[in-house]
Amino acid sequence: MALIKTKGLVIKEQAYKEQDKILTIFTEDEGKIQCIARGVRRQKSGLLASTQIFAYAEFVYYPGKNFGVINQANLIEAFYPLRNDLTKMALAAYLLDLINNAYDFYQKSTEILKLLLHVLFYLSGGTAKNDLVLVGAFQLKLISVLGYRPGISQCMICETDAELTAFSIESNGVLCKNCKHQATGYSYKLTPDMRDLLLEFLRKSMKELKDIDASSMDVIKINDMLDHYIGHCIGKSSKAYTFYKSLLDPLSS
Ligand SMILES: [Zn+2]
Repeated sequence: MALIKTKGLVIKEQAYKEQDKILTIFTEDEGKIQCIARGVRRQKSGLLASTQIFAYAEFVYYPGKNFGVINQANLIEAFYPLRNDLTKMALAAYLLDLINNAYDFYQKSTEILKLLLHVLFYLSGGTAKNDLVLVGAFQLKLISVLGYRPGISQCMICETDAELTAFSIESNGVLCKNCKHQATGYSYKLTPDMRDLLLEFLRKSMKELKDIDASSMDVIKINDMLDHYIGHCIGKSSKAYTFYKSLLDPLSS
């Protein structure tokens, strides 16, 4: 069996047997894979740092039918500061959960991996004006790459570009004030500021978006709306988002 070498981000870890872990890794060359990391729950394991959630490393592993077996891992970035801030950690864990839900095993996207690493880098470094802007932009860019880019510039029913005041989950985009009553399913109220933000999320790079400030109320509404939309498109909702929301409002859950 030939060894495979690829860079990847650990997006999920599960304890296995006495001292092992099963890792889900979103890799550059092989897509989403699952590997067993043997003995890494011992303190003296040399692989300890590179086999934890959020670790970005160069992995060398033996491929297997269901699981690969990690042979070597060289840590590139651990994003350690994320672990010192519960809200940031919950947000970052949500992004990993989105990837886990959206991608099948062996399905890959170097574009999304790169985008995710940028967001983790800015979240971890505390360099963004508003972390939620980056999360919203990642949500929208991800669902667009997956082929479900919502319509934002004109009404999904009558195609007008005036008075677009709702975002309809089931119509896959915005609706004007006349058409919003015809849509079935759930619609979110959309203000002009919220719509402008959505357009910026699509148009701008993460590097530009980290310098954007926006009303937190607006961005929170957009995060909720996009999470709902992603769940609708990929058919799986994120438990990590529910956890993140419970931190913001402990009484609601
Ligand atoms: Zn319309």
